[in-house]
Amino acid sequence: MASSDSQPGDATARPPVDPGRTWAERSVDYFEHAAERLGVADEVRDFLRHNYRELQFEIPVHLSDGRLHVFTGYRIQHKGLRGPFKGGIRFHEETDLAESRALAALMTWKTALVGVPFGGAKGGVDCPAGRLAEQDRELIARAYMDKVEIVLGPQRDIPAPDINTDAQTMGWLLDQWGKLHGFTPAIVTGKPLALHGSYGREQATGRGVALCLNDAAGAVGLGLDGARMVVQGFGNVGSWAARLGVRLGCRLVGASNVDGAIHDPRGIDPERLVRHLAEGGSITEYPGAEPISPQELLELEHEVFIPAALGGVINERTVDRLRCRIVVEGANGPTTPDADRALAERGVFVVPDILANAGGVIVSYCEWAQNLQQLRWEEGDVNARLALTLGRAFAETRDRSKATSRTLREAAYEIAVERVIDAARARGVLRGKRVRPADEGDATGGVPAESAVRRG
Ligand code: NAD
Repeated sequence: MASSDSQPGDATARPPVDPGRTWAERSVDYFEHAAERLGVADEVRDFLRHNYRELQFEIPVHLSDGRLHVFTGYRIQHKGLRGPFKGGIRFHEETDLAESRALAALMTWKTALVGVPFGGAKGGVDCPAGRLAEQDRELIARAYMDKVEIVLGPQRDIPAPDINTDAQTMGWLLDQWGKLHGFTPAIVTGKPLALHGSYGREQATGRGVALCLNDAAGAVGLGLDGARMVVQGFGNVGSWAARLGVRLGCRLVGASNVDGAIHDPRGIDPERLVRHLAEGGSITEYPGAEPISPQELLELEHEVFIPAALGGVINERTVDRLRCRIVVEGANGPTTPDADRALAERGVFVVPDILANAGGVIVSYCEWAQNLQQLRWEEGDVNARLALTLGRAFAETRDRSKATSRTLREAAYEIAVERVIDAARARGVLRGKRVRPADEGDATGGVPAESAVRRG
């Protein structure tokens, strides 16, 4: 499947250009390379590549324009070895099977890396949600739930918000599931407080990005006071990362959303920009800032880049334009493997998505736990749990990265893959001894050949 990776520190290796595969198809290389380094046996790799279950279905809805529209919905459950499947639901015209598969696997590695008791899933609908009225999005959400309710459940699969879905969307999904199964707050996370959502969930992913930024700055010796920050995708994750990044001392010099990009070297006030957008203003009309092209956004002089929109945006065409010292991946899958190598060769410190944006699933875990216990935690308790869990994951990943001379992403994938294999072994799904990194001198090269997959 994947070609073999260049060795870390091999500065002469050029990133291979692979335009024939989408960013989603290429993102599997991160897993393949980690499995290679760990010496995971072929049939175990094959098992980990497969999805537990894939749903693809039609969503025919009469929208407010009076016409029948037929969209395609997806729910991909990758691996549920460490707990119920967990992952967001995205409403976006580019949503497709390949993207949903890639994002589901990403969730498996993310939940394992940060140690929350979930597996990985992802879903979505290929609708142009950004241009649809609220009542139309509600119809689509309810129709989606009708198609997937049978594979969901608080101990089975628990959706959450993603691009163009929010707390309100989760409220509709909860309501629709409840019609068949009774009122069940733990069926979704990221829902409104009025329906037993958690304090701190809306900000959680952006808060996690800011926590990682702080740790990354410490790791590279960058003072954040006055550090120039650029945020691509000023939505839920991006706007909270910007607000909390500014509280850490950063200056937001560039921001963008689907409508355009802006630049102000003196600093954009993210709170004011949030209010401007909430009142219906376009980002390019934000007073005092200069409208620029999305390409120019990447080329701005800055120290910290936070991608918080779509996948594959840092790729072989854009990577050379980026001039930052730190990338904190708020978005899922923003960096293609070849661009990732180019960043590593240039010494850019990248906090990978499975760590950087895990704040969302960590607080989703807090929300789920509160729902199961029928308790509500104070916001301070939720934020403290987030900081503790993410801080520990960052430290573990950094320690491994230093000990093995791997990038943070390589170290993160290795830890995650090991944990998922350990869970499969503990269940008896896989036979054989625990996988160990080749660096630890495992002469058999990890999971031996006889450790066949018993059942999937
Ligand atoms: P959102 O819908 O709230 O925000 C997405 C933002 O990206 C919007 O501002 C949109 O206008 C902008 N955007 C879309 N296309 C763009 C383009 N071509 N150029 C620039 N901006 C563009 O979604 P979100 O929940 O903030 O999710 C953003 C990213 O974070 C996604 O990759 C998602 O998978 C990831 N993520 C989200 C969460 C979460 O808790 N919401 C958790 C983990 C990861």
